[in-house]
Amino acid sequence: MAIEQTLAIIKPDAVKQKHIGNIIAKIEAAQFNIQQAFMLQLAQEEAAEFYHIHAEKPFFNDLTSFMSSGPVMVMILEKENAIADWRALMGATNPKEADADTIRALYAQSIDENAVHGSDSPETAFEEITFFFEADESLDLEELLDEAETSS
Ligand code: ADP
Ligand code: MG
Repeated sequence: MAIEQTLAIIKPDAVKQKHIGNIIAKIEAAQFNIQQAFMLQLAQEEAAEFYHIHAEKPFFNDLTSFMSSGPVMVMILEKENAIADWRALMGATNPKEADADTIRALYAQSIDENAVHGSDSPETAFEEITFFFEADESLDLEELLDEAETSS
């Protein structure tokens, strides 16, 4: 299995409720390396750009208002199979359907305010990491993406 990187976001609801520490503890217990991390507050237009694939959805306006409503923490997580493993640790989009002990089961309230974000494929991981982070030669993102494409 290949070493991968994925983008994680701790969303405004979880930051407000002081769950950053709890969520990072789960990430580290699951053996992810936190490669880079910082906090910021998105403008609504930036949230709209980040979530452009959902632009036609009925919840798009609420989603971009929520994502720009307070600070978030963005992180690059790295490990073998990081993309799928982070999605599994997050749990289902709707916390009511999330498996026990997942981050959304533990810390999310509702389908719209659901504590965390994770990339869903090597292509979106590349796009989302470069949305927030400067290209860093040591990360070799393009090489990781090529490997993911040739192995799938
Ligand atoms: P995920 O975050 O699990 O990848 P999606 O990509 O489908 O889920 O949706 C992106 C985000 O949009 C969700 O995490 C959630 O915050 C919001 N969202 C998704 N579906 C709904 C919905 N039916 N109603 C309100 N908000 C939603
Ligand atoms: Mg998604």
